[in-house]
Amino acid sequence: MVNSLVFYPLYCQLCLNRCKHSLALCEKCQALLPYNSHCCKICAVPLPENQSICGVCQLKTQHDYQQIYSPFLYQQGIVYLIQQFKYQGHPAFGKTLALLYKNWIQDQSITYPEALIPIPLHPVRFRQRGYNQSLEISRILAKQLNITLDYQLLKRTHNNPKQSLLSASQRKDNIHGVFSLNSSTPSYQHIAIVDDVVTTGSTVAEAAKILQTVGIKKIDVWSIARVII
Ligand SMILES: [Zn+2]
Ligand SMILES: [Zn+2]
Repeated sequence: MVNSLVFYPLYCQLCLNRCKHSLALCEKCQALLPYNSHCCKICAVPLPENQSICGVCQLKTQHDYQQIYSPFLYQQGIVYLIQQFKYQGHPAFGKTLALLYKNWIQDQSITYPEALIPIPLHPVRFRQRGYNQSLEISRILAKQLNITLDYQLLKRTHNNPKQSLLSASQRKDNIHGVFSLNSSTPSYQHIAIVDDVVTTGSTVAEAAKILQTVGIKKIDVWSIARVII
């Protein structure tokens, strides 16, 4: 009788060496990941050791969200993992990113939100890509951390041009008014918006603005990587 339990050897997704980790990253590659180790306590932009809030956040009188939690910089191995997941359609890379995030957020001693709200894709782009990378990461995080996943509250009603092709000020105009809310609104007090990469922060700020309109008091942002702008 053939044993139905087949053990597949695990290979590091970055260096392709065998690894024992269930994370699919060897310890060496994990240690070399570009951690966003000291950053603004609000927008997560990297800062020198002696600063805790960046100049831009200090000048703002009102913030759309409380804090962006972003453990990595969008560089080196993280770029590769995100691109393999997002553009090459390899879900195993998304799982690695979500598990890296889970391990990191568990060490942050923060209060978890009541729900995770992934940044939605417009239905046209969703059909082209076949999946929403932020939703797939949120699914794993919600399950692993026992948090509600709510992917219906926030909708994308306009298919705006890709943010990556635009300047910072164009991004803000481009994203304005693209989100709306579904009519049956749950009474959350604390949520986290989930996005794979934060660049200028205009997408998550726009999502936070609309989520504030239904009385959500505390809005965090959970993002895998922060682009240095
Ligand atoms: Zn490796
Ligand atoms: Zn800041």
